[in-house]
Amino acid sequence: MLYDDFYVKSLIQTVEDWPKEGISFRDITPIFSDPKGMRMVVDAYVHRYIATDITHIACIDARGFLIAAVLAYELQKPLILIRKKGKLPGKTISQSYDLEYGSAELEIQQGAVKEGDHVLLFDDLIATGGTLFAAIELLTGQGAEIKEVSAIIDLPDLGGSQKLQENNVPVFSLCAFA
Ligand code: AMP
Repeated sequence: MLYDDFYVKSLIQTVEDWPKEGISFRDITPIFSDPKGMRMVVDAYVHRYIATDITHIACIDARGFLIAAVLAYELQKPLILIRKKGKLPGKTISQSYDLEYGSAELEIQQGAVKEGDHVLLFDDLIATGGTLFAAIELLTGQGAEIKEVSAIIDLPDLGGSQKLQENNVPVFSLCAFA
């Protein structure tokens, strides 16, 4: 289904002062409850990545999982979960980072990726980029190469996508809220 920016953006709800005062929270959950919107978003990513040399799709807890899982199924690629601290069993590697609102820690299972893997890293939204930089550390720390970082929404005013590009990380987002 052809991607319609106006349609997808109209599904995204802005919730002011949540989870903290001063934050305009961009809620993508209406995309998941709208089959047409979900198909548009997934198809846009399938179209973008079907003819690339990515070998793995990594995604970030939790909203990143939802689109990335469907994409991994469609592209028949392994899906790698990067989770919040304490959720993954076995030996893990962790990385702490700062958020637009607070700080947190991400983890990956040891051996989830290796040298020679070409990873598409997926999250729902890019704000300051702190989450994605932490995830990149976890993946590149095990030898993988990041082919592209991908999100549904970019908030360019918060500078994350620019910072990623300045660090030579290719970035793609379906839409932006400035
Ligand atoms: P950041 O690390 O600052 O780029 O923040 C990105 C992560 O935090 C993503 O996983 C988002 O789910 C979440 N996030 C940060 N800011 C917002 C926002 N304004 N609306 C929705 N989610 C956000």
